Amino acid sequence: MIVLRVRVYSSRTRPQIPMPRPIVATVSIPAMRHNLALARERAPGRFVWAVVKANGYGHGLANAARGFAAADGMALVEFDGAAQLRRAGWSGPVLMLEGAFDPDDVAQAVRERLSLVVHEVRQVEWLEARAADAPIDVFLKFNSGMNRLGFGHDAFREAFGRLVRLACVGRLTLMTHFANADLVGGADQALRRFEAAAAGLPAPRSLANSAATLQVSQAHGDAIRPGVMLYGATPFGEGDARSLGLRPTMRLESRLIAVQELVPGDAVGYGSGFRAARPMRIGVVACGYADGYPRHAPNGTPVAVDGVRTATVGRVAMDMLMVDLGPVPDARPGSTVELWGETVPIDAVARASGTIGYELMCALAQRVPMRVDDGTCA
Ligand SMILES: *Cc1c(COP(=O)(O)O)cnc(C)c1O
Repeated sequence: MIVLRVRVYSSRTRPQIPMPRPIVATVSIPAMRHNLALARERAPGRFVWAVVKANGYGHGLANAARGFAAADGMALVEFDGAAQLRRAGWSGPVLMLEGAFDPDDVAQAVRERLSLVVHEVRQVEWLEARAADAPIDVFLKFNSGMNRLGFGHDAFREAFGRLVRLACVGRLTLMTHFANADLVGGADQALRRFEAAAAGLPAPRSLANSAATLQVSQAHGDAIRPGVMLYGATPFGEGDARSLGLRPTMRLESRLIAVQELVPGDAVGYGSGFRAARPMRIGVVACGYADGYPRHAPNGTPVAVDGVRTATVGRVAMDMLMVDLGPVPDARPGSTVELWGETVPIDAVARASGTIGYELMCALAQRVPMRVDDGTCA
């Protein structure tokens, strides 16, 4: 006989997120608000698009929508994400950063009042075919040197001429995306190219990603598009987000599930990728690459145990990684481990692993339970 158990929860006693393992990611809504306010401060008076693509850089789209509720608009690339924002009650502007992928997307844009990037001539044609619709705001994209999306100089001006005539096009904005805004002077040539192509065209401008928001004030234009800085990671190749005044928005934590005592010559993990030169205590952490921790993190990648900074040893496995307990002699199974967050900047883990904070956030695995710190006491 099958017995179905039905548990009834009152709205006051919502079930805890099931925690099959001790790992948990905590997303901080107050930190998101703080970082958004900092972006605004850097580009006063500008329209701020909070970039929430890739599931809010791995933070959960609904969480991003809450954290950035004070933004002027939300920008992303996924049309299902845009629909989710509308269902969640976001009624402000939504900008689709890669525009329509097919004509059905244009229909959704009309229905859900989404603004569309236009970077390709097919997208101009799809709009021309819908001339009778309610107007859509369009962001015409210039290729300023990245050679990824956008029109070159002449095609850009020609596309502007076609779009500006259409009844189904509302406000037209000129945009570009920088390849090198993180380098000092890295946006100069792109900015000159953009200004030449946009010369005399009567439309607002949007150019700045996080890096340009922070260090290229002449590129703030009318609307900025910060992404990674809002999530408390740096867009730059060095330093970390804290020194920019940003707060981490994601903490990845787990616990030690075992401790091993090593004698000199003992090896750790697959491939014996670490060998003890002296007697050592090491801790085994319930976090691996299947949780989104980078497998390429080498020996020495920063980590914190019971709030004390230490380093990984041995190869990261699917479900576990190992850490040196030398600086934390009191650590034992059950001790807390911060993989990244307040004590260990995500930028430091990324740099040690040959990647960027963006990738680590986005790669956080589905199996990691997510908690939301909304700044109120439970
Ligand atoms: C992702 C993206 C951004 C945000 O970039 P960050 O480096 O995360 O600030 C801005 N504009 C466009 C077009 C993007 O695709």
